[in-house]
Amino acid sequence: MSVTNRVDELRLGLESTQERVRHACQQAGRSSNDVTVVVVTKTYPVSDVEILQELGVTDVGENKDQEAGPKRAQMTNHDLRWHAIGQVQSNKAKSVAQWADVVHSVDRVSLVQAFDRVVVPTPIQALVQVSLDGDPARGGCVIADLAVVAEAVAGSSVLSLAGVMAVAPLGMEPSRAFADLWAMSQGLQADFPQAAWISAGMTQDFEAAISAGATHVRIGSAILGNRA
Ligand SMILES: *Cc1c(COP(=O)(O)O)cnc(C)c1O
Repeated sequence: MSVTNRVDELRLGLESTQERVRHACQQAGRSSNDVTVVVVTKTYPVSDVEILQELGVTDVGENKDQEAGPKRAQMTNHDLRWHAIGQVQSNKAKSVAQWADVVHSVDRVSLVQAFDRVVVPTPIQALVQVSLDGDPARGGCVIADLAVVAEAVAGSSVLSLAGVMAVAPLGMEPSRAFADLWAMSQGLQADFPQAAWISAGMTQDFEAAISAGATHVRIGSAILGNRA
């Protein structure tokens, strides 16, 4: 694939996705300014990240520390916001803090404590990931632990509590899953008004997430193509 073709391909993927986001916002009576598209670039080369940035993308998501750190380091333009969207082992907190501006997957107090041992120039925005069906397979704390993890993040000097994140569980209607997450977000904001971000929705279900109030959608394959 030539570079020119890849630019066209990414532009098309981006434009069609942005159109779908706009449409979903309109259907939900929301402003598209209230929804940030985090373009999930995992497994794709840094050349794609650079093209996406040229096309106006501001936020990218990565799920593996060993992949994301080197990718960010290779960028010549440092204006992108990098989102860590995958499970973080506590012994990787220091490394993740080197490249992530936002961590979507804070799901336990011990991980907050690991971040607290890192020195950062500015606090990292943090979302508490909730497992809506209690299955820990893809990360996330059980619903009952949301408050205690959020308290820990709010008390952290390295992390700054920004909201909640979830992945729709297999076998649960996405619209129901995202409605549950929205209700949890409302509860959390009663105690922490700054925690207003809701990270929900991927290629398969981002329209449902937008109608349920998502502020951040994490979209990979609709823009970059199916991952190998
Ligand atoms: C890979 C990934 C995404 C993006 O998935 P697509 O289906 O490619 O849009 C979103 N969120 C998380 C947590 C991911 O791991």
